[in-house]
Amino acid sequence: DNPVARKPDWIRVKAPTSREYQDTKKVVRNNKLHTVCEEAGCPNIGECWAKGHATMMIMGETCTRACSFCNVSTGKPEALDPFEPARVGDAVAQLGLQHVVITSVDRDDLDDGGAEHFARVIRAIRHQAPGTTIEVLTPDFLRKDNALETVVAAKPDVFNHNLETVPRLYIPVRPGARYYASLRLLDRVKELDPTMFTKSGIMAGLGETKEEILQVMDDLRSARVDFLTIGQYLQPTRKHHPVDRFVPPDEFKTYEKRAFNKGFLMVSASPLTRSSYHAGEDFERLRAA
Ligand code: SF4
Ligand code: SF4
Repeated sequence: DNPVARKPDWIRVKAPTSREYQDTKKVVRNNKLHTVCEEAGCPNIGECWAKGHATMMIMGETCTRACSFCNVSTGKPEALDPFEPARVGDAVAQLGLQHVVITSVDRDDLDDGGAEHFARVIRAIRHQAPGTTIEVLTPDFLRKDNALETVVAAKPDVFNHNLETVPRLYIPVRPGARYYASLRLLDRVKELDPTMFTKSGIMAGLGETKEEILQVMDDLRSARVDFLTIGQYLQPTRKHHPVDRFVPPDEFKTYEKRAFNKGFLMVSASPLTRSSYHAGEDFERLRAA
């Protein structure tokens, strides 16, 4: 029984081949950056990178957490690279992006969880690519006083933090994280800056029920979260959390409708939706509306 090998038709995507994909790869390599697109083996990489949409993963490629859905290795991370913010800024300028998503590994080893490094990256992008809107997808900063405040003060356009799954599955899926702490983090962003857009996402197919997904939507709306993403969980390797089921495209459509009815401003729910999938297009559409 190998769920990795049995993907339904609606999950299969073409291998990346375009020249534009290669150009994006060059910018990432030349600036010695890591991307979640590669680390996660994201199925959308051909499509996204053809448009220059690479999601940078800052603060190294070793994480202090061990989420059971995630392919990033766990261990003692390397020291922060003080030149990384400038390289990220350069890469964003070279890619000519309208919108960029910046994420990171979790850095429980650092006193501020890496918040100041996030702020430096935001400032470097503002400096080197002033026209680019910035979305941060942050760790939960659990037990890191004032970390969230530091990131919010740097004024990203969108503050994203993923709940990843329903509360019942936190222990097997997201050990080390706390559902209500993550929810509270999102609510606190709105408290600090009511004009900042907030965003969160979950994966479907980890073993949750439909009712639990709808309850997460209500929880997110009560934390005043603006944008929602829901995508199919794919098992990176056989050692990772098993796929419970492949959610059919129609069911995602239903989630999308229900989410808009609950008041989210932007919703992306489809098998291939990822936290950063079409993030720029969706944000531009919203700003134009
Ligand atoms: Fe990268 Fe996100 Fe696109 Fe996947 S969906 S390739 S992670 S930008
Ligand atoms: Fe992966 Fe993020 Fe969990 Fe680290 S905190 S294991 S990078 S999902």
